[in-house]
Amino acid sequence: MVDPVVPETPAPKAKAAARAGPDLDCGGNSGSMESGPAGPTPPLVLVGAGLASAIIAQRLSTVQNALQVIIVESTDTPFGEHTWCFHKSDVQPTSLGWIAPLIAYEWEEQSVRFTGYERHLPSGYCSLTSASVSEAIGRLPTVSLIKNTEVTALSAAQVTFANGGTQAASCVIDCRGYRPSASMVLGYQKFVGLEVELSEPHGLPHPVIMDATVEQLDGYRFVYLLPVSPTRVLIEDTRYSEGADLDGAALSEDIHAYANSHGWNIQRVVRRENGVLPIVLAHDFERFWSELPVDIAHAGLRAGLFHPTTGYSLPDAVHVADLIAENWPIGTAALAAVIRRHAARQHRKQGFYRLLNRMLFLAAEPDKRHLVLERFYKLPTPLIERFYAGRTTTTDILRILTGKPPVPIHRALACLSEAQLFENDSL
Ligand SMILES: Cc1cc2nc3c(=O)[nH]c(=O)nc-3n(C[C@H](O)[C@H](O)[C@H](O)COP(=O)(O)OP(=O)(O)OC[C@H]3O[C@@H](n4cnc5c(N)ncnc54)[C@H](O)[C@@H]3O)c2cc1C
Repeated sequence: MVDPVVPETPAPKAKAAARAGPDLDCGGNSGSMESGPAGPTPPLVLVGAGLASAIIAQRLSTVQNALQVIIVESTDTPFGEHTWCFHKSDVQPTSLGWIAPLIAYEWEEQSVRFTGYERHLPSGYCSLTSASVSEAIGRLPTVSLIKNTEVTALSAAQVTFANGGTQAASCVIDCRGYRPSASMVLGYQKFVGLEVELSEPHGLPHPVIMDATVEQLDGYRFVYLLPVSPTRVLIEDTRYSEGADLDGAALSEDIHAYANSHGWNIQRVVRRENGVLPIVLAHDFERFWSELPVDIAHAGLRAGLFHPTTGYSLPDAVHVADLIAENWPIGTAALAAVIRRHAARQHRKQGFYRLLNRMLFLAAEPDKRHLVLERFYKLPTPLIERFYAGRTTTTDILRILTGKPPVPIHRALACLSEAQLFENDSL
């Protein structure tokens, strides 16, 4: 079950297409429909150019008689500065087919490292980058992107821009990203990533999704390595912590120290990204949704659709895009109801992940959190794959919880109640 990492360096399968897409700046600050495509039926309007809207636009481009789609983004940088990764087993094979144009790199294997053992997993891994997503969306003839335009109001048939302009819509989906809410009690996964060019090959044959052999700081700490060419690697220093504060300079220094300790000479930092992702310990579903208008459809983090333990939203976004396509064409309010029902099902299924998070954050001492993961990664590969995909079964749950717990039993028992966290109203 536990295999050594094979020290070879095949280049990952680069998927980003070389051909340039059309200019994505469709409308600049105008906020009007004149620069976008017009048709007899108003377009679908996706508010926010992030991961969820890109995935929905890509999926809807595959349906027959696809509507025009307008994506409205408040910033100058649609799709941000991200690397979004997922395990191939996170999504159905059919979904892997239609999401393929968005993928920048893929690998057939991955590994993890803990003190005392390394484990090689024969599980495929893929990454999307902001560049690969922008290119793919730019190639879609049905999609227009309006950037530098903040949406200030949404209704079922129209969005209003900060400059007072409006856009009629046959369907509106709010994809504006994370919204803080008292309905969730959170811990955080926070990280800084530097994509670096090295003077010599790094020798990594595939991603190392957790190198937890590093000094444990600020909760559970691990380094994540994504090799995108023989000499280029994204190095992310990640912490699972109580607080959302991120000391970017300190984490950058730690990344440089990590590279040094591996004998890697950084020639150039190509790109930097950072994130503070919500890790959900308790979620009051009814309260969360009561804060959202019932007649507007929501997707992505806006809809609370992400994995409670990883903070990753890509598998959920793919699922929701498939759901939208299956129900297409559909109006805003009807879609809002479909997505909310889906979110309710997800919330019920995700109760176990929230329990594990409570054990990780509340039962385990911060410097012992790594033991929980160390134990988890000794479990069978299919169980690990189902965990990331959010498809953990009852048998998996029993398997994960069986044996000597890596946290004190009395503290684990004290974490069982989710509602209690709201009664205390704090972590
Ligand atoms: C650096 C980073 C790396 C991540 N890596 C992964 C990963 O590997 N895999 C994974 O599954 N998840 C990952 N995540 C977590 C999560 O999947 C992402 O946060 C994802 O981008 C969320 O998608 P979204 O579409 O819901 O929101 P976002 O991608 O945040 O998009 C929301 C967009 O809406 C725009 N917006 C907000 N308000 C308005 C407004 N009023 N008008 C117009 N536009 C507006 C924002 O500017 C933004 O562009 C990562 C997150 C970060 C920050």
